[in-house]
Amino acid sequence: MSLDFNDTSIAYARMSDTDLKKAQFLFRLISSPKLVNAGKQLLNGLLRIHFPVDWAIKPTVYHQFVGGEELEHCSQIINLLSQYNVKSILDYSVEAIQDDDAINKVLNETLRSIRFAAKNPDIPFAVFKPSAFIQPQILDKIEHPETLSQDEHAQIEQFKNRIDILCHESASLGQPILIDAEHTWYQGLIDEIAEEMMLQYNKEHTIVYNTLQMYRIDRISFLQQQIQKAHENGYLLGLKFVRGAYMEKERDRARKYGYASPIHPDKASTDRAFNEALKISIENMDVTSIFCGTHNEESCLYLTQLMQERDINKNNNNIWFSQLYGMSDHISFNLAMNGYNVAKYIPYGPVKNVMPYLIRRAEENTSVAGQTSRELRLLQKEIERRKLR
Ligand SMILES: Cc1cc2nc3c(=O)[nH]c(=O)nc-3n(C[C@H](O)[C@H](O)[C@H](O)COP(=O)(O)OP(=O)(O)OC[C@H]3O[C@@H](n4cnc5c(N)ncnc54)[C@H](O)[C@@H]3O)c2cc1C
Repeated sequence: MSLDFNDTSIAYARMSDTDLKKAQFLFRLISSPKLVNAGKQLLNGLLRIHFPVDWAIKPTVYHQFVGGEELEHCSQIINLLSQYNVKSILDYSVEAIQDDDAINKVLNETLRSIRFAAKNPDIPFAVFKPSAFIQPQILDKIEHPETLSQDEHAQIEQFKNRIDILCHESASLGQPILIDAEHTWYQGLIDEIAEEMMLQYNKEHTIVYNTLQMYRIDRISFLQQQIQKAHENGYLLGLKFVRGAYMEKERDRARKYGYASPIHPDKASTDRAFNEALKISIENMDVTSIFCGTHNEESCLYLTQLMQERDINKNNNNIWFSQLYGMSDHISFNLAMNGYNVAKYIPYGPVKNVMPYLIRRAEENTSVAGQTSRELRLLQKEIERRKLR
Protein backbone atom coordinates (compact mmCIF):
# COMPACT_ATOMS: atom_id res chain seq x y z
CA MET A 1 0.00 0.00 0.00
CA SER A 2 1.46 3.37 -0.92
CA LEU A 3 1.31 6.38 1.33
CA ASP A 4 -1.14 9.06 0.17
CA PHE A 5 -1.85 11.87 2.61
CA ASN A 6 -4.71 13.06 0.40
CA ASP A 7 -6.84 10.00 1.05
CA THR A 8 -9.55 11.71 3.05
CA SER A 9 -11.68 8.57 3.32
CA ILE A 10 -8.98 7.17 5.61
CA ALA A 11 -8.20 10.47 7.30
CA TYR A 12 -11.78 11.11 8.43
CA ALA A 13 -13.20 7.58 8.62
CA ARG A 14 -14.05 7.97 12.29
CA MET A 15 -15.95 11.25 11.82
CA SER A 16 -19.67 11.56 11.10
CA ASP A 17 -20.95 14.06 8.52
CA THR A 18 -21.92 16.37 11.39
CA ASP A 19 -18.41 16.10 12.88
CA LEU A 20 -16.94 17.10 9.53
CA LYS A 21 -19.21 20.12 9.20
CA LYS A 22 -18.42 21.23 12.75
CA ALA A 23 -14.67 20.96 12.10
CA GLN A 24 -15.06 22.88 8.86
CA PHE A 25 -16.99 25.66 10.62
CA LEU A 26 -14.32 25.89 13.33
CA PHE A 27 -11.35 26.01 10.95
CA ARG A 28 -13.16 28.69 8.95
CA LEU A 29 -13.53 30.75 12.11
CA ILE A 30 -9.90 30.43 13.16
CA SER A 31 -8.62 31.12 9.69
CA SER A 32 -9.35 34.79 10.30
CA PRO A 33 -6.43 36.52 12.09
CA LYS A 34 -8.68 39.43 13.07
CA LEU A 35 -11.24 37.14 14.65
CA VAL A 36 -8.60 35.09 16.48
CA ASN A 37 -6.96 38.22 17.81
CA ALA A 38 -10.24 39.76 18.95
CA GLY A 39 -11.32 36.42 20.48
CA LYS A 40 -8.01 36.13 22.33
CA GLN A 41 -8.33 39.63 23.86
CA LEU A 42 -11.93 39.01 24.81
CA LEU A 43 -11.26 35.61 26.38
CA ASN A 44 -8.22 36.81 28.31
CA GLY A 45 -10.31 39.71 29.63
CA LEU A 46 -13.17 37.43 30.64
CA LEU A 47 -10.85 34.92 32.29
CA ARG A 48 -9.17 37.70 34.26
CA ILE A 49 -12.49 38.68 35.83
CA HIS A 50 -13.40 34.99 36.30
CA PHE A 51 -16.30 35.26 33.91
CA PRO A 52 -17.43 31.77 32.80
CA VAL A 53 -16.35 31.04 29.23
CA ASP A 54 -16.87 27.27 29.18
CA TRP A 55 -20.19 27.52 27.34
CA ALA A 56 -18.48 29.15 24.35
CA ILE A 57 -15.20 27.22 24.39
CA LYS A 58 -16.30 23.69 25.26
CA PRO A 59 -18.39 22.88 22.17
CA THR A 60 -15.98 24.62 19.79
CA VAL A 61 -12.18 24.81 20.02
CA TYR A 62 -12.04 22.68 23.17
CA HIS A 63 -14.04 19.88 21.54
CA GLN A 64 -11.79 20.01 18.47
CA PHE A 65 -8.39 20.04 20.20
CA VAL A 66 -8.82 18.69 23.77
CA GLY A 67 -9.55 15.22 25.17
CA GLY A 68 -11.57 16.23 28.23
CA GLU A 69 -11.28 17.70 31.71
CA GLU A 70 -10.00 14.54 33.38
CA LEU A 71 -7.70 11.70 32.38
CA GLU A 72 -10.59 9.24 32.44
CA HIS A 73 -12.72 11.45 30.18
CA CYS A 74 -10.27 10.77 27.33
CA SER A 75 -10.98 7.01 27.26
CA GLN A 76 -13.63 7.25 24.58
CA ILE A 77 -11.28 9.13 22.24
CA ILE A 78 -8.41 6.73 22.99
CA ASN A 79 -10.61 3.74 22.11
CA LEU A 80 -11.90 5.36 18.95
CA LEU A 81 -8.43 6.28 17.68
CA SER A 82 -7.08 2.85 18.54
CA GLN A 83 -9.61 1.27 16.17
CA TYR A 84 -7.55 2.91 13.39
CA ASN A 85 -4.27 1.94 14.99
CA VAL A 86 -3.64 5.53 16.10
CA LYS A 87 -2.35 5.66 19.66
CA SER A 88 -2.78 8.45 22.22
CA ILE A 89 -0.53 10.56 24.43
CA LEU A 90 -2.31 12.36 27.24
CA ASP A 91 -0.86 15.72 28.11
CA TYR A 92 -2.07 17.42 31.29
CA SER A 93 -2.40 21.09 30.42
CA VAL A 94 -0.95 23.60 32.82
CA GLU A 95 0.80 26.89 32.28
CA ALA A 96 2.75 29.18 34.62
CA ILE A 97 2.02 27.86 38.11
CA GLN A 98 2.76 30.16 41.00
CA ASP A 99 2.87 28.17 44.23
CA ASP A 100 4.16 24.92 45.69
CA ASP A 101 0.72 23.51 46.46
CA ALA A 102 -0.35 23.87 42.85
CA ILE A 103 2.95 22.42 41.65
CA ASN A 104 2.50 19.36 43.85
CA LYS A 105 -1.01 18.85 42.50
CA VAL A 106 0.36 18.85 38.95
CA LEU A 107 3.09 16.45 40.03
CA ASN A 108 0.49 14.04 41.40
CA GLU A 109 -1.67 14.37 38.31
CA THR A 110 1.33 13.70 36.06
CA LEU A 111 2.23 10.62 38.13
CA ARG A 112 -1.37 9.48 37.72
CA SER A 113 -1.08 9.98 33.95
CA ILE A 114 2.12 7.89 33.87
CA ARG A 115 0.41 5.03 35.71
CA PHE A 116 -2.68 5.36 33.52
CA ALA A 117 -0.47 5.12 30.40
CA ALA A 118 1.45 2.14 31.77
CA LYS A 119 -1.81 0.20 32.09
CA ASN A 120 -3.00 0.97 28.57
CA PRO A 121 -1.18 -0.32 25.47
CA ASP A 122 -2.90 2.41 23.44
CA ILE A 123 -0.88 5.06 25.30
CA PRO A 124 2.74 4.52 24.24
CA PHE A 125 4.16 7.65 25.95
CA ALA A 126 3.56 9.80 28.98
CA VAL A 127 4.52 13.46 28.73
CA PHE A 128 5.12 16.55 30.81
CA LYS A 129 5.98 20.17 30.44
CA PRO A 130 8.93 20.90 32.75
CA SER A 131 7.99 24.53 33.49
CA ALA A 132 4.96 23.23 35.41
CA PHE A 133 7.27 22.10 38.21
CA ILE A 134 8.94 25.36 39.18
CA GLN A 135 7.87 28.93 39.70
CA PRO A 136 8.17 30.82 36.41
CA GLN A 137 10.11 33.76 37.85
CA ILE A 138 12.99 31.45 38.75
CA LEU A 139 13.17 30.12 35.21
CA ASP A 140 13.31 33.69 33.97
CA LYS A 141 16.42 34.32 36.07
CA ILE A 142 18.19 31.09 35.30
CA GLU A 143 20.42 32.56 32.60
CA HIS A 144 22.10 34.64 35.31
CA PRO A 145 22.75 32.21 38.17
CA GLU A 146 24.60 34.92 40.12
CA THR A 147 21.24 36.67 40.63
CA LEU A 148 19.64 33.64 42.29
CA SER A 149 19.16 33.62 46.06
CA GLN A 150 19.93 30.61 48.23
CA ASP A 151 16.25 29.83 48.42
CA GLU A 152 15.96 29.96 44.64
CA HIS A 153 18.90 27.58 44.29
CA ALA A 154 17.09 25.24 46.66
CA GLN A 155 13.97 25.49 44.52
CA ILE A 156 15.97 24.50 41.45
CA GLU A 157 17.14 21.40 43.33
CA GLN A 158 13.52 20.66 44.19
CA PHE A 159 12.64 21.11 40.52
CA LYS A 160 15.27 18.53 39.53
CA ASN A 161 13.91 16.21 42.19
CA ARG A 162 10.38 16.46 40.83
CA ILE A 163 11.54 15.59 37.33
CA ASP A 164 13.48 12.68 38.77
CA ILE A 165 10.33 11.46 40.56
CA LEU A 166 8.48 11.43 37.21
CA CYS A 167 11.27 9.72 35.27
CA HIS A 168 11.88 7.22 38.06
CA GLU A 169 8.20 6.25 38.11
CA SER A 170 8.24 5.91 34.31
CA ALA A 171 11.35 3.75 34.41
CA SER A 172 9.98 1.49 37.11
CA LEU A 173 6.82 0.92 35.03
CA GLY A 174 8.71 0.66 31.73
CA GLN A 175 6.68 3.58 30.43
CA PRO A 176 8.47 5.93 27.98
CA ILE A 177 8.07 9.62 28.82
CA LEU A 178 8.52 12.76 26.75
CA ILE A 179 9.87 16.02 28.14
CA ASP A 180 8.39 18.96 26.21
CA ALA A 181 10.56 21.93 25.21
CA GLU A 182 9.70 25.56 25.75
CA HIS A 183 11.81 28.72 25.79
CA THR A 184 15.49 28.88 24.97
CA TRP A 185 16.39 30.95 28.03
CA TYR A 186 15.83 28.03 30.37
CA GLN A 187 16.08 25.08 27.98
CA GLY A 188 19.76 24.74 28.94
CA LEU A 189 18.73 23.63 32.42
CA ILE A 190 16.08 21.25 31.03
CA ASP A 191 18.62 19.74 28.60
CA GLU A 192 21.04 19.19 31.46
CA ILE A 193 18.40 17.46 33.58
CA ALA A 194 17.12 15.41 30.62
CA GLU A 195 20.66 14.22 29.98
CA GLU A 196 21.06 13.16 33.62
CA MET A 197 17.73 11.32 33.44
CA MET A 198 18.74 9.45 30.28
CA LEU A 199 22.08 8.52 31.80
CA GLN A 200 20.22 7.11 34.76
CA TYR A 201 17.13 5.53 33.20
CA ASN A 202 17.93 4.80 29.54
CA LYS A 203 20.45 2.03 30.01
CA GLU A 204 18.41 -0.85 28.59
CA HIS A 205 15.30 0.79 27.19
CA THR A 206 14.61 4.28 25.92
CA ILE A 207 12.45 5.65 28.69
CA VAL A 208 13.22 9.38 28.73
CA TYR A 209 12.93 11.52 25.59
CA ASN A 210 14.09 15.13 25.40
CA THR A 211 12.63 17.56 22.86
CA LEU A 212 14.75 19.34 20.26
CA GLN A 213 13.20 22.40 18.63
CA MET A 214 14.75 22.47 15.21
CA TYR A 215 13.94 26.15 14.62
CA ARG A 216 16.94 26.74 16.87
CA ILE A 217 20.18 27.42 15.04
CA ASP A 218 22.24 25.44 17.57
CA ARG A 219 20.24 22.18 17.59
CA ILE A 220 22.12 20.18 14.95
CA SER A 221 25.39 20.55 16.83
CA PHE A 222 23.54 19.87 20.10
CA LEU A 223 22.17 16.66 18.57
CA GLN A 224 25.64 15.59 17.46
CA GLN A 225 27.01 16.19 20.95
CA GLN A 226 24.14 14.25 22.49
CA ILE A 227 24.80 11.28 20.22
CA GLN A 228 28.48 11.36 21.09
CA LYS A 229 27.73 11.48 24.82
CA ALA A 230 25.27 8.58 24.53
CA HIS A 231 27.93 6.51 22.75
CA GLU A 232 30.64 7.43 25.25
CA ASN A 233 28.53 6.85 28.34
CA GLY A 234 26.55 3.85 27.16
CA TYR A 235 22.96 5.04 27.31
CA LEU A 236 20.07 5.35 24.84
CA LEU A 237 19.01 8.68 23.47
CA GLY A 238 15.30 9.49 23.30
CA LEU A 239 14.79 12.31 20.79
CA LYS A 240 11.55 14.11 20.21
CA PHE A 241 11.84 16.46 17.24
CA VAL A 242 9.58 19.46 16.68
CA ARG A 243 10.09 22.69 14.78
CA GLY A 244 9.23 24.89 17.78
CA ALA A 245 6.16 26.81 18.91
CA TYR A 246 7.54 30.03 20.37
CA MET A 247 9.20 31.74 17.43
CA GLU A 248 7.67 35.20 17.88
CA LYS A 249 8.34 35.27 21.61
CA GLU A 250 11.96 34.20 21.06
CA ARG A 251 12.54 36.85 18.44
CA ASP A 252 10.85 39.58 20.49
CA ARG A 253 12.94 38.76 23.53
CA ALA A 254 16.17 38.70 21.53
CA ARG A 255 15.29 42.11 20.12
CA LYS A 256 14.35 43.48 23.54
CA TYR A 257 17.61 42.44 25.21
CA GLY A 258 19.78 42.99 22.14
CA TYR A 259 21.13 39.49 21.53
CA ALA A 260 21.17 37.52 18.29
CA SER A 261 17.96 35.59 17.71
CA PRO A 262 18.47 31.87 18.44
CA ILE A 263 15.94 31.02 15.72
CA HIS A 264 16.71 30.23 12.08
CA PRO A 265 16.23 33.27 9.87
CA ASP A 266 13.61 31.65 7.66
CA LYS A 267 11.28 28.70 7.38
CA ALA A 268 13.40 26.93 4.77
CA SER A 269 16.39 26.77 7.17
CA THR A 270 14.17 25.37 9.93
CA ASP A 271 12.83 22.76 7.50
CA ARG A 272 16.34 21.78 6.42
CA ALA A 273 17.50 21.46 10.02
CA PHE A 274 14.48 19.33 10.94
CA ASN A 275 15.10 16.87 8.11
CA GLU A 276 18.85 16.86 8.72
CA ALA A 277 18.18 15.92 12.35
CA LEU A 278 16.02 12.99 11.22
CA LYS A 279 18.81 11.80 8.93
CA ILE A 280 21.50 12.06 11.61
CA SER A 281 19.30 10.20 14.07
CA ILE A 282 18.49 7.41 11.63
CA GLU A 283 22.22 7.00 10.97
CA ASN A 284 22.76 6.51 14.70
CA MET A 285 19.94 4.17 15.55
CA ASP A 286 22.23 2.02 17.64
CA VAL A 287 21.60 4.67 20.32
CA THR A 288 18.72 6.84 19.10
CA SER A 289 14.94 6.54 19.28
CA ILE A 290 13.01 9.03 17.18
CA PHE A 291 9.75 10.75 17.97
CA CYS A 292 8.83 12.91 15.00
CA GLY A 293 6.31 15.56 16.12
CA THR A 294 5.20 17.43 13.04
CA HIS A 295 2.33 18.32 10.74
CA ASN A 296 4.72 18.78 7.87
CA GLU A 297 4.00 16.30 5.09
CA GLU A 298 7.48 16.48 3.55
CA SER A 299 9.22 15.74 6.84
CA CYS A 300 6.95 12.77 7.49
CA LEU A 301 7.51 11.42 3.98
CA TYR A 302 11.24 12.02 4.31
CA LEU A 303 11.36 9.93 7.48
CA THR A 304 9.46 7.11 5.79
CA GLN A 305 12.00 7.25 2.93
CA LEU A 306 14.93 7.13 5.33
CA MET A 307 13.37 4.10 6.99
CA GLN A 308 12.87 2.39 3.66
CA GLU A 309 16.44 3.09 2.52
CA ARG A 310 17.76 1.47 5.68
CA ASP A 311 15.32 -1.44 5.69
CA ILE A 312 13.82 -0.36 8.98
CA ASN A 313 10.44 -1.94 9.68
CA LYS A 314 7.53 0.50 9.54
CA ASN A 315 6.48 -0.51 13.03
CA ASN A 316 9.96 -0.40 14.54
CA ASN A 317 9.25 0.67 18.10
CA ASN A 318 12.10 3.19 18.07
CA ILE A 319 10.41 5.42 15.50
CA TRP A 320 7.14 7.25 16.13
CA PHE A 321 5.19 9.88 14.23
CA SER A 322 2.98 12.26 16.12
CA GLN A 323 0.48 15.02 15.43
CA LEU A 324 -1.67 17.09 17.73
CA TYR A 325 -5.22 15.93 18.36
CA GLY A 326 -7.64 17.81 16.11
CA MET A 327 -5.05 18.60 13.44
CA SER A 328 -3.56 16.86 10.43
CA ASP A 329 -5.60 13.69 10.63
CA HIS A 330 -4.74 13.10 6.97
CA ILE A 331 -1.13 12.51 8.06
CA SER A 332 -1.83 10.50 11.22
CA PHE A 333 -4.48 8.15 9.88
CA ASN A 334 -2.79 7.51 6.54
CA LEU A 335 0.55 6.78 8.23
CA ALA A 336 -1.17 4.43 10.69
CA MET A 337 -3.10 2.70 7.90
CA ASN A 338 0.24 2.09 6.18
CA GLY A 339 1.65 0.41 9.27
CA TYR A 340 3.73 3.19 10.84
CA ASN A 341 3.67 3.96 14.57
CA VAL A 342 1.49 7.00 15.14
CA ALA A 343 0.26 8.74 18.26
CA LYS A 344 -1.90 11.80 18.75
CA TYR A 345 -0.93 14.35 21.41
CA ILE A 346 -4.13 14.91 23.38
CA PRO A 347 -4.17 17.70 25.94
CA TYR A 348 -6.62 17.42 28.81
CA GLY A 349 -7.62 19.62 31.72
CA PRO A 350 -10.11 22.31 32.73
CA VAL A 351 -10.96 24.97 30.14
CA LYS A 352 -9.08 27.67 32.06
CA ASN A 353 -5.83 25.67 32.03
CA VAL A 354 -6.11 24.68 28.41
CA MET A 355 -6.76 28.23 27.16
CA PRO A 356 -3.12 29.20 26.41
CA TYR A 357 -2.73 25.94 24.46
CA LEU A 358 -5.93 26.63 22.52
CA ILE A 359 -4.88 30.18 21.76
CA ARG A 360 -1.52 28.88 20.48
CA ARG A 361 -3.34 26.40 18.24
CA ALA A 362 -5.70 29.07 16.92
CA GLU A 363 -2.80 31.46 16.26
CA GLU A 364 -0.75 28.74 14.65
CA ASN A 365 -3.62 27.85 12.36
CA THR A 366 -4.00 31.48 11.46
CA SER A 367 -0.34 32.32 10.99
CA VAL A 368 1.18 29.17 9.54
CA ALA A 369 0.72 29.66 5.85
CA GLY A 370 -1.38 26.96 4.32
CA GLN A 371 -2.10 25.00 7.50
CA THR A 372 -5.75 25.99 7.91
CA SER A 373 -6.41 26.15 4.22
CA ARG A 374 -5.04 22.61 4.03
CA GLU A 375 -7.40 21.42 6.81
CA LEU A 376 -10.30 23.18 5.09
CA ARG A 377 -9.45 21.80 1.67
CA LEU A 378 -9.29 18.24 3.00
CA LEU A 379 -12.50 18.54 5.03
CA GLN A 380 -14.26 19.96 1.97
CA LYS A 381 -12.90 17.16 -0.19
CA GLU A 382 -14.27 14.52 2.19
CA ILE A 383 -17.67 16.23 2.46
CA GLU A 384 -17.90 16.27 -1.35
CA ARG A 385 -16.73 12.66 -1.61
CA ARG A 386 -19.44 11.50 0.78
CA LYS A 387 -22.11 13.34 -1.18
CA LEU A 388 -21.14 11.41 -4.30
CA ARG A 389 -21.33 7.97 -2.70
C1 LIG B 1 3.28 15.92 18.66
C2 LIG B 1 3.78 17.34 18.80
C3 LIG B 1 4.43 17.74 19.95
C4 LIG B 1 4.88 19.05 20.07
N1 LIG B 1 5.61 19.42 21.18
C5 LIG B 1 6.20 20.64 21.21
C6 LIG B 1 7.13 20.98 22.23
O1 LIG B 1 7.41 20.22 23.15
N2 LIG B 1 7.70 22.21 22.18
C7 LIG B 1 7.42 23.11 21.15
O2 LIG B 1 8.01 24.20 21.13
N3 LIG B 1 6.55 22.80 20.20
C8 LIG B 1 5.94 21.60 20.19
N4 LIG B 1 5.09 21.28 19.16
C9 LIG B 1 4.69 22.33 18.18
C10 LIG B 1 5.70 22.45 17.07
O3 LIG B 1 6.90 22.99 17.58
C11 LIG B 1 5.26 23.36 15.92
O4 LIG B 1 4.92 24.61 16.40
C12 LIG B 1 4.09 22.86 15.14
O5 LIG B 1 4.06 21.47 15.08
C13 LIG B 1 4.15 23.43 13.70
O6 LIG B 1 5.29 22.93 13.02
P1 LIG B 1 5.19 21.72 11.98
O7 LIG B 1 6.49 21.02 11.87
O8 LIG B 1 4.06 20.88 12.37
O9 LIG B 1 4.72 22.39 10.62
P2 LIG B 1 5.20 23.49 9.59
O10 LIG B 1 3.95 24.21 9.25
O11 LIG B 1 5.96 22.89 8.48
O12 LIG B 1 6.17 24.46 10.35
C14 LIG B 1 5.78 25.57 11.09
C15 LIG B 1 6.92 25.86 12.01
O13 LIG B 1 8.09 26.24 11.25
C16 LIG B 1 8.84 27.20 11.97
N5 LIG B 1 8.85 28.46 11.20
C17 LIG B 1 7.79 29.06 10.59
N6 LIG B 1 8.16 30.21 10.01
C18 LIG B 1 9.48 30.36 10.24
C19 LIG B 1 10.42 31.36 9.93
N7 LIG B 1 10.07 32.46 9.23
N8 LIG B 1 11.69 31.21 10.35
C20 LIG B 1 12.07 30.11 11.05
N9 LIG B 1 11.21 29.11 11.38
C21 LIG B 1 9.93 29.23 11.00
C22 LIG B 1 8.11 27.40 13.30
O14 LIG B 1 8.70 26.52 14.22
C23 LIG B 1 6.69 27.00 12.98
O15 LIG B 1 5.98 26.55 14.14
C24 LIG B 1 4.62 19.98 19.03
C25 LIG B 1 3.97 19.57 17.87
C26 LIG B 1 3.55 18.28 17.74
C27 LIG B 1 2.86 17.86 16.48
